[in-house]
This record gives sequence, structure tokens and C-alpha cells, in this order.
Amino acid sequence: MDEQRPLGGIDDWEDDLLRRYPDPGDEKSDEQFRNYDDAAPDHVREFYRQNHRRQTVEFGRQKRDQYLGLSQARMSAWEALEFLNTLVDESDPDTELSQVQHCLQTSEAIRADGHPDWFILVGLVHDLGKILCLWDEPQWAVTGDTYPVGCAFSEKIVYPEFFSDNPDSDNPAYQSETGMYEPGIGLDNVMMSWGHDEYTYQVMQNYLPREGLAMIRYHSFYPWHHAGAYQQLMNEDDREMLSWVQKFQPYDLYSKSDSPPDVEQLKPFYTELIDQFLPPVLAW
Ligand code: FE
Ligand code: FE
Repeated sequence: MDEQRPLGGIDDWEDDLLRRYPDPGDEKSDEQFRNYDDAAPDHVREFYRQNHRRQTVEFGRQKRDQYLGLSQARMSAWEALEFLNTLVDESDPDTELSQVQHCLQTSEAIRADGHPDWFILVGLVHDLGKILCLWDEPQWAVTGDTYPVGCAFSEKIVYPEFFSDNPDSDNPAYQSETGMYEPGIGLDNVMMSWGHDEYTYQVMQNYLPREGLAMIRYHSFYPWHHAGAYQQLMNEDDREMLSWVQKFQPYDLYSKSDSPPDVEQLKPFYTELIDQFLPPVLAW
């Protein structure tokens, strides 16, 4: 196991999500995911351990300072998708789906169900922030479940025991349910652990409807959209957005299929969709 990069590929975390949350619509899921209650594989546990130890308020501030000026790169959404596709899954380069294929399977599943254009586009772009990996960000700072920092870590976050190594667990200001926030402050005013969700949201925030932005910003926030934690920080708006985030989540998690989408064939539809909402060049 590479200590700096415990996941063989960035998608090992999503694969582990399927162990935790098997597809309810998959008849084989009982059989296939019989190890549902078992521990995650060692390399995934190591990933969670690093993530939980190092995602602090201070780290979140540093990364926001570093990235949210959006001065890393200028490229279209499709160019970002092609750039992301250069991220190779080292664990299994032959059989794993490429990043573009995951994005397209998600968006195609949304499209097949007749959802509006902006929703389809959310499927396409929701993971573009994973390009952080290509700028040498460690895996634990790009992917994995997200959760608020600056308040008590919920027991509903996967492997909560790993937070005992997080320096914020010793900061008295962050120990209560609301920590450095007012009750009901609204998730938009809460600092989430840093990763591809927040970064993608910041890049897209002027261009998509708020429902779509919530889907992007909170799609890895499993303790919230799956486990119902962090009610104390929610406002009216979050209660409304929660159902949209929950509507998106199965497309992200359960759209993987063995037949990879034909990227060249789909490209004209998607470049047109991108042009409908996004500027020709985005700031990253
Ligand atoms: Fe994601
Ligand atoms: Fe995804």
C-alpha cells in the first residue's frame, strides 16, 4: 500500500460506498454485497483514517485560500473532463471505467429518466473537481465522505473513531453539536471538509440552478443525505435542497454498468448542453 495514496484509484472510495449502501434495486445485491457489515478493506480504512485525522478547520481555510481564487487553470467543462480522464486508476487500469465514463453514465441515467437539462448537466460535471488529484492533492483531500468541520464530528460519519487523531477534537470551541456556528445557520455558511464537491460547486456556482448546485456541493455528504445527521445546522433552504440531493445520489452511485458509454457519439449532445449553461471558458 502506498502510504501517501492508500487508494489504488480514486474510485475505490465509491466502490466502498456500494458496500455500505448496496443498490436497493439490484436483486443480486444481497448476495453480492454480503460483506455489508464487514469492515472496509485495509487500504480504504487507511484512506478514511488519513481523511479523518487531517481534515481540520485550519486545513479547510488553507485550501480555500489556495483554490477559491479560481486561478489554477482556464478551460471549458469538456476540456476539464478530458483532463480528468488523464487520471489513471492504478489498481486496475484495464477494467475500471474511466472518469469520463462515470460522468457520462451518471448523466445518461438522469437523461434516460426524463429530467431537465440542468439536472443532466449536473450529472456530467459533478465530479470535475477531482482534477485536484492532478494538482497533487492527496486522495484524502479530494474524495471520501464529506462533513462539517468546526463542530463535533457526528457518530454517523463512517469510522468516527478515527477523529480522535484530529487536532480539532481537542479544541474546546468545536466540541458542541454546533461548535463555531449558530444553530440553524444553514449549510451554505458551514465549512465542509475540503474535497471535490466544494471545489466543483465553487467553479459552477454562477451557472446552475440552486437545486443543481446543492447536488454538486453535498453529493458526498453521506452523514447528512443518508444518515440524517446535522439537523442542528440546517435552515429552511437546506430542508428543501435535501430531497434534491437525495434524488441525485442514486444516479451517482448506481449508474455504473459494464457497457461503457460511447464518448464520441455522445460528445455533440453534451457540448451543446454545456454551451446552454456554461461559458466557453471556466475559471478553475
Ligand atoms: Fe463525487
Ligand atoms: Fe460521482
